[in-house]
Amino acid sequence: MATPGPSSEIRYFCRRCRYELTGLGFREIDGYPQCPECGSLFRPGDPETTTPTPHGPVRRFVHSRTGKVMLAMVLLFVGYKTNVLPRPVRPFDGTAINWSHWEWFGVDHGTQRLPSAWGGTTPRWVNWEVTWRWGRVRAVRVVEAQFGAVIWSVDRGPNGVFRLDVDATAVDWSDLLTGLNAVSRPDEFLGVTIDGDRSVHQENPRPFSVTGTKQEVIGEMVRQYGLAIRTLVVPNNHGDVWVFDAEAQAMRLVSVQEASEMGYDPARDDQAVLPRPFWN
Ligand SMILES: [Zn+2]
Repeated sequence: MATPGPSSEIRYFCRRCRYELTGLGFREIDGYPQCPECGSLFRPGDPETTTPTPHGPVRRFVHSRTGKVMLAMVLLFVGYKTNVLPRPVRPFDGTAINWSHWEWFGVDHGTQRLPSAWGGTTPRWVNWEVTWRWGRVRAVRVVEAQFGAVIWSVDRGPNGVFRLDVDATAVDWSDLLTGLNAVSRPDEFLGVTIDGDRSVHQENPRPFSVTGTKQEVIGEMVRQYGLAIRTLVVPNNHGDVWVFDAEAQAMRLVSVQEASEMGYDPARDDQAVLPRPFWN
């Protein structure tokens, strides 16, 4: 709108619309020239009707370099404080910021790294890598801290398909359960716990891999470890319970009556919720 004139000249602008009036030939009304932009009457150089600056102080500030920098800083600060802007999550232990783990709108994204000292029972020096998307854990990988080799990993695909890869031996089943529960949604809680006293192994004798529903993955763990399970009556299962059917070598959803006949003693747990992993 404002056409810049030579800088030596004294410039003036319409006080109402800030149209540049410097050196224009004017149509006059009642002896006053008229702003071609908004029609206001003015007198050149009159501070009541003209102004020497193209914009008011606020707009001039906003358009200035300093103004832009300050506005950007204020927006960044407000965005940071209100979680509108993503920010890296500071690890619990105060170690250096992990730039692959972010918080945005109050939920986690990216990959969180946890030294095994934070939990888990795997008897090696390992790191847990927890992959978050929109505040939900999508994958857990346990890697050797020194060489980065994957010991085991679990991830949940979009359609309730779980994949468990155990690439080493001597992985404690409770660590796998931690990972498996971490990537599960609350409605995928089967209500089974592992009976450590009656199970054959606490550590797997050989590597294995399984892809399928959560009950298929648990079933494969039961087979690989020789686990004994306890089952609970939880709201998810609408009165039925999950058991391991030794004949079929698979997890099966049965009535409480049938579970009792199979030797299970299903306890009712109406408050049962998905167990929370140690980092949560
Ligand atoms: Zn005007």
